[in-house]
Amino acid sequence: MDYTQKIARQVASVPRSGIRDFFELVQGREGIISLGVGEPDFVTPWNIREAAIYSLEKGQTSYTSNLGLPSLRKSISGYVQDFFGVSYDVSEVLVTVGVSEAIDLALRALLNPGDEVIFHEPCYVSYSPSIVMAYGEAVAVETRKRDGFSLKPEALAAAITPKSRVLMLNFPTNPTGATATREDLEGIAKLCIEHDLMVLTDEIYSELRYDLSEPHVSIASLPGMRERTVLLHGFSKAFAMTGFRLGYACAPQPVVEAMMKIHQYSMLCAPITSQVAALEALENGLPAVAEMRESYRLRRDFLVKRLNEMGLSCHSPGGAFYVFPDIRETGLSSKEFAMRLLEEEGVAAVPGSAFGASGEGFLRCCYATAFEDLQVAMDKMQAFVGRL
Ligand code: PLP
Repeated sequence: MDYTQKIARQVASVPRSGIRDFFELVQGREGIISLGVGEPDFVTPWNIREAAIYSLEKGQTSYTSNLGLPSLRKSISGYVQDFFGVSYDVSEVLVTVGVSEAIDLALRALLNPGDEVIFHEPCYVSYSPSIVMAYGEAVAVETRKRDGFSLKPEALAAAITPKSRVLMLNFPTNPTGATATREDLEGIAKLCIEHDLMVLTDEIYSELRYDLSEPHVSIASLPGMRERTVLLHGFSKAFAMTGFRLGYACAPQPVVEAMMKIHQYSMLCAPITSQVAALEALENGLPAVAEMRESYRLRRDFLVKRLNEMGLSCHSPGGAFYVFPDIRETGLSSKEFAMRLLEEEGVAAVPGSAFGASGEGFLRCCYATAFEDLQVAMDKMQAFVGRL
């Protein structure tokens, strides 16, 4: 059978994730040090795992409300109020299967075919394919190393057309670790109001910011923005809960209702065990988040220092757990650099081009990896760069 004629055009048109492709090469190979997949190296804190175990012991094995457990939604609403300074009623919170599902739901709930969605690039690998699979048009705005890879209002203004409908933001950013200043967010918010754009803001790394002298600013908290923003957040990164697959969206009720319609028919609800664990994370998990953050900060500082010393210029990112060194001086493409580093030294990192065309010339190294492994990886990378 010719399956090319059977697969939907929209799905066939999007590429497989560049990260996954690269990591299939690594799988099953011995002795590789991976700075690859963006996943905490910590096991989920014990109290959270224990809550999940106890929930199973009690026999909590049923569906929950489509929106999620009321107790969890109440706790999320309180947390979002405290952390982001935005107030959402429990009916404006939808619990999802990771932020991944929330991104898909929000795009499908907001887009009509041909609507343009603007996002800043380099960016998380799922954005452009998710837009396309929701029948939108993906419009990438390049961010630059000299701006710390933050989105500048001027660059956004230049990308807006009469077909623009949604802006996607992600601060701190995967893969660059970029954060946004309040001033830039205010400029961006002004444009969104002027051009009547909805905003999806993926703030999954918001607890993993290293300059704590300034609070995290969510665009949802700026004047006039709550009503046009879908705030996406989840438990995977800060609480080291990737395998629990739990996230949430906070948005005005009609948007939550639209997202919930899709969710109720496709997913029904997020797994109850994960929801119970997430409740424990919000109620008692924050001290563990602070400890993990401090450990990531030390590793970030170490990597930035070593990369700059070996001649790979690397800004110190304000958040997430990635560094994004500039490899252009080596004369290699990001894919060549990553392939040769893997073949010659057994160190896996992701080519910047996996995060969009504007990631070319850079490499993403995830530092959610044991400190000893980071030390060996940096020695090996230095030897590799020294031979070029
Ligand atoms: N958003 C960003 C920016 C990410 O980096 C990731 C995972 O790497 C996700 C969303 C997916 O998160 P989740 O595990 O909650 O689906």
